[in-house]
Order: sequence, then C-alpha cells, then structure tokens
Amino acid sequence: SAKQRGRDNYQLFHPDMAKTAARNFDHEQEMRKAIASQEQFYMVYQPKVLNDGAIVGLEALMRWQHPKEGLISPAEFIPLAEESDLIIQLGELAIDDVLKQMHGWRKAGCELVPVSVNISGRHMVSGPLVEYVKDRLEHYQIAGDLLEVEITEGVLLTDVERCIDVMTALKALNLKLSVDDFGTGYSSLNYLKKLPLDILKIDRSFVDECATTVEDGQICTTIISLAQHLDLTTVAEGVESPEQLAFLQLKGCNIYQGYLFHKPTTPEHISTLLAQQVVA
Ligand code: C2E
Ligand code: MG
Ligand code: MG
Ligand code: MG
Repeated sequence: SAKQRGRDNYQLFHPDMAKTAARNFDHEQEMRKAIASQEQFYMVYQPKVLNDGAIVGLEALMRWQHPKEGLISPAEFIPLAEESDLIIQLGELAIDDVLKQMHGWRKAGCELVPVSVNISGRHMVSGPLVEYVKDRLEHYQIAGDLLEVEITEGVLLTDVERCIDVMTALKALNLKLSVDDFGTGYSSLNYLKKLPLDILKIDRSFVDECATTVEDGQICTTIISLAQHLDLTTVAEGVESPEQLAFLQLKGCNIYQGYLFHKPTTPEHISTLLAQQVVA
C-alpha cells in the first residue's frame, strides 16, 4: 500500500535527495543485471499454520543478496521495480523459482502444501501473468490448487474490470486468490463481492496491537467476521505473541503467519519442517 510504502521508504524524504536518487538509479541498473545473471535474487519461505501449529501453507518472499551492499529488503527494491517493467521480470522469476522448488520438494518426498506468491498490481493488469503461470505449472507438473496469488488491496481498485478478468482466468487454473495487507487500502468494499477471492490476510499493523488496543482488536474482529460472512478464509500476518494468537483464535481466525511460529526460512529448512509433520 502507499501508506506502507511511505513508511518503509522514509529514506526517500531524507534531505540528501540527490544521493538517494543516485542510489536508486544504481539499484535499477544493478537489478537489471542481477535479473539477467539469475544469481542475486532468491526466495525464502514463511510457514502459515493452524491453531495447533500444523503447517498448511507457505508464503514465498523475495530476497536480494547484493554483492556489495548485502541483503536488501523487498520493502526497498519492490517499490523501485514497480516503477518499470522490472516488476514483471521479478514476478516471473518468483513464480518460476517457487514452482521449481515445489517440484524439488516433491521429488525429495515432501508432502506439498500450497505456496503463495506476491504479485504486483502492475504485473496483474499489464503483464502476461495467466499465460506464464499456466506454462510454468505444466512445465513443473504442479497442480494449480497448490499455488496462491497474493495481491494488495490497492491494485484491485486501480482497474477492477481488468482484475476481474485476470483473476477469473487464474481461478480457471484452480489457483487460490488472496488479498494481502487487508484493511490498509482506501477501499470500497464493493470489490469483495465482485472478485473471485478465497482469502483475506489481515495486515500486520492491526495484528500488532489486537490484544492491547481496543480499536485494533475491533478491526481484527470485524475483518474476521466480514470474511466469515463472505465465505473467505482469514490469515493473520505478523503474529508475534501468544496474546495476539489467543485473541485471534477466540475471534475465529483460520490461519496464522508470524515470528511466533516461524520466520521466513530457506527451502532446506522447509523440507525439514514438512518432513516432521505427521500427515493426517
Ligand atoms: P507481505 O507480502 O505483507 O509479507 C509479509 C512481510 O511481513 C514479510 O516481510 C515477512 O517477513 C514479514 N513478517 C512475517 N511475520 C512477521 C512477524 O511476526 N513480525 C514482523 N515484524 N514481520 C513479519 P518481507 O519479506 O520483508 O517482505 C516485505 C514485503 O515485500 C511483502 O509484504 C511484500 O509486499 C513484498 N514482497 C516480498 N517478496 C515479494 C515478491 O516476490 N514479489 C512482490 N511483488 N512483492 C514481494
Ligand atoms: Mg504477502
Ligand atoms: Mg502482507
Ligand atoms: Mg502487511
């Protein structure tokens, strides 16, 4: 969301604007090279769990290991990539990487769980997303219902008609569709009934103080209730404490994601976690 972007990129408003602009420009050039070389970008995976801790899904999150500057946060490079076609290349890189990884996990004997990929609005409305997803699913022989697309609310409002078309086509491939950072957009709720959605992800900013601030608690309760009435699954992002978990459980939240359970981690560690699970 714009709000979140503003918060995460406070350096854009730093007095030393020229330096910032130069740094961003370098990054854009370097991002192009890094994408071409296919070495510096990789995915980590954060488990999504049920009340009892059973892993029922994973979110794929991108990392940029810069040769000189070290690890750069997606909160920094994704907004920059969104200013150009780079975001489509990064989106395709993520989709390919995730499906390749799932193919690898399956070959290693893991029981697969659905994996979500964050897709930018620009990619949704102007890229060949559906064709690409279809091609990669076939290539890696992964069933569509094991892939989920997370889209932020803001996108859904920029071009609703186009979003409906793309999302309907993704549903035809059996994908799950989720609204990320729900509650942070300036939305009319009208889109919720128009779009073929499956999941609402409650933004971390509400989860943060759900057990300690009345208003945040009420917002979480309302989102969960709204989702129940619309037959959508709720995922709470950024669950860090047992108090937050207890509150959300009481209100009927379905799935949890956060440091209380797992941080984003390597595919190797995910294999271990999945292998430890007793499959019902
Ligand atoms: P998001 O999709 O809302 O992802 C959740 C973010 O919250 C991740 O940050 C995750 O590491 C972090 N998080 C999860 N649990 C906790 C917790 O308990 N406490 C705290 N403090 N944080 C938690 P990350 O990986 O830095 O990603 C930031 C954002 O960058 C993502 O937010 C998403 O909007 C974007 N992003 C990441 N990977 C991709 C990608 O492959 N493509 C696109 N388009 N965007 C991406
Ligand atoms: Mg997400
Ligand atoms: Mg989110
Ligand atoms: Mg969020």
